[in-house]
Amino acid sequence: MSPHRRAAAGDDATTDSALAANVVDVRRFSTHDGRGIRTTIFLKGCPLACSWCQNPEAIAPRIRPVFFRSRCIDCGLCLGECAAGAATRDADGKVRIDTTVVGTDWEVLSAGCPSGAITFDARRYTVAELVGLVERDRVFFGGGGGGVTLSGGEPLFLPRFATALLRALKRAGLDTAVETALDVRPGALATALPWTDHLLADCKLIDADEHRRHTGRPNRQILANLAGLLTGDRRADVIVRTPLIPGVTATPGNIAGIARFISGLYPEVRYELLNYNPLAAAKYDLLPGAAYLFPAGGNPPMFTRDQLAGFGAIARAAGVRNLVAA
Ligand code: SF4
Repeated sequence: MSPHRRAAAGDDATTDSALAANVVDVRRFSTHDGRGIRTTIFLKGCPLACSWCQNPEAIAPRIRPVFFRSRCIDCGLCLGECAAGAATRDADGKVRIDTTVVGTDWEVLSAGCPSGAITFDARRYTVAELVGLVERDRVFFGGGGGGVTLSGGEPLFLPRFATALLRALKRAGLDTAVETALDVRPGALATALPWTDHLLADCKLIDADEHRRHTGRPNRQILANLAGLLTGDRRADVIVRTPLIPGVTATPGNIAGIARFISGLYPEVRYELLNYNPLAAAKYDLLPGAAYLFPAGGNPPMFTRDQLAGFGAIARAAGVRNLVAA
């Protein structure tokens, strides 16, 4: 048993396998969510609301209905099923579903839709069900250090569930990683860490006002959690990551400020700069009322290799010795 797990000797020995949470997706064969080939579990619920969020459907904790216009075959079966008026037909003959209409029985509408156009943005899983799901992938984790990553949303938003799941995964002999934005109570980190092999910790914006403006939340707790991690005995298991959002996080001042902060806490800190992903914008079309940072037609491309090298050079100049290749 590793030293960090011995620290959890006081844990309840019985995993509560019946604990449940809302899960947006279970993605297999991921190579971007930690070491090796991984299965990533995206949990629903996040205290932040970043204007560039890659998984905006994972911000709200509750399960919500979703309508995929591209899947709809205009059969009209839903029209007679919804007295509340959520399903209507346009003048052009196309069926439209308004997922904001209250009083709609979405379970009935979804069950009756033959093409899967009416569905939900998450489903509920117990700890036992999730462990059973990822067991299918054990053979792919192999000797390359692969395993299971909890992502989101904020996986530590529900610390009791996250800890129970991590503990069950470790007891099944699987490598575990957690992707966190760190806007959580220190106690949530402390209970999850003994069952977490690697922590991928976001640091998005070092300036307090900019952070509040773009995420809706202050960054004081995040920076305090980061400081605790990078001065604690698990600091070698942490990778700090900054998503490069054009004109927001991807500025020389922000990268240099974060790099100075984290390398001042731990000179050997590992730091990763994540390239911008313009494809996230498409998800916002499915979420009524959600607005992506960049308007349609104004979405910037990914950064080039040279631009990424430039940001890396800024981080190195500000003190980072161990830049993780993206
Ligand atoms: S039942 Fe489904 S596929 Fe048929 S019109 Fe309604 S949303 Fe479209």
